[in-house]
Amino acid sequence: MNFPSLAELSDSLRVVAIPLKQKFRGITTREVALFEGPFGWGEFSPFLEYDVAESSRWLAAGIESAFVGWPAPKREVIEINATIPDGTPEEAVAALAFFQGCRTAKIKVAGTHSSLDTARLVAVERVLGDSGKIRIDANGCWSVAEALKQITSFYEVLGNTLEYVEQPCATVSEIAQVHEKLSVPVPLAIDEGIRKEGYTRNLSDIADVAILKVAPMGGVKNALHIAQQLDMPIVVSSALETSIGMRAGLALAAAVPNLLGACGLGTVDLLGGDVISHSLVAEDGAIGLREVVPSLELLDRWAAPDRAQWWQNRLTMTYEFLDRR
Ligand SMILES: [Mg+2]
Repeated sequence: MNFPSLAELSDSLRVVAIPLKQKFRGITTREVALFEGPFGWGEFSPFLEYDVAESSRWLAAGIESAFVGWPAPKREVIEINATIPDGTPEEAVAALAFFQGCRTAKIKVAGTHSSLDTARLVAVERVLGDSGKIRIDANGCWSVAEALKQITSFYEVLGNTLEYVEQPCATVSEIAQVHEKLSVPVPLAIDEGIRKEGYTRNLSDIADVAILKVAPMGGVKNALHIAQQLDMPIVVSSALETSIGMRAGLALAAAVPNLLGACGLGTVDLLGGDVISHSLVAEDGAIGLREVVPSLELLDRWAAPDRAQWWQNRLTMTYEFLDRR
């Protein structure tokens, strides 16, 4: 691997802080560091609370993007799902409108206000119409008993419009129990469980779909390797990156042989700005592969000079961790 020095990364380092259109994951501003290499730009954007070990995978992904490049694509256009944050039914419908032409919506449920969750699902289903599909992401918030009850009641409301339920419980072993006991035909997807528990063997006995993300998995090549081991339908998803980080997600979706369908790579639409002038957002429900280069004007517009030293320190600590392994 053409591994850059810390000085090479630091020389081109740019730090931006971009406001979100709606609060997401408890944050209202997305901070991102970017650097340039011979293959283009890379994004280093672990969430602020992440430790050095977790952040090191994000750094490896950014370095791959700028200094290594990606595997050859098997497809040039990636179908995209809308991502609907937690909120009221009105906010859900407003969020759906950002994702132009998307026929699949992924809805985050909080798990505690199930009547409100049901109202949001119904509101989104009404806008999507008959050919729409809905994915529910519980982010591990249910117990096994709650998951069985919630999934059954959501199936009663949505029927076959419900494409799958993602990470119903926190652990893979709980999800396996739900998978075994569930009496309605709703596929289950595993997201956090793959990363946090390092699951790659026999996952297809436990769930029906695997969600893969580039940055938390240390880059496109690593994630593709996991996809090949899993040998089950894959959905590629993102982590609130700018178009620079999103391009890596598209590279994975383009290279994965066993892609299920729409991918969660439309989240640039949740940002109130971007670092490239023609953002990687869904048009007619899909994004085509293309080169992305930051605009200097946009890097300046979203620059966060008061955060630059913090990110330089984080880059240094993370790089040292990465280098020692
Ligand atoms: Mg998820």
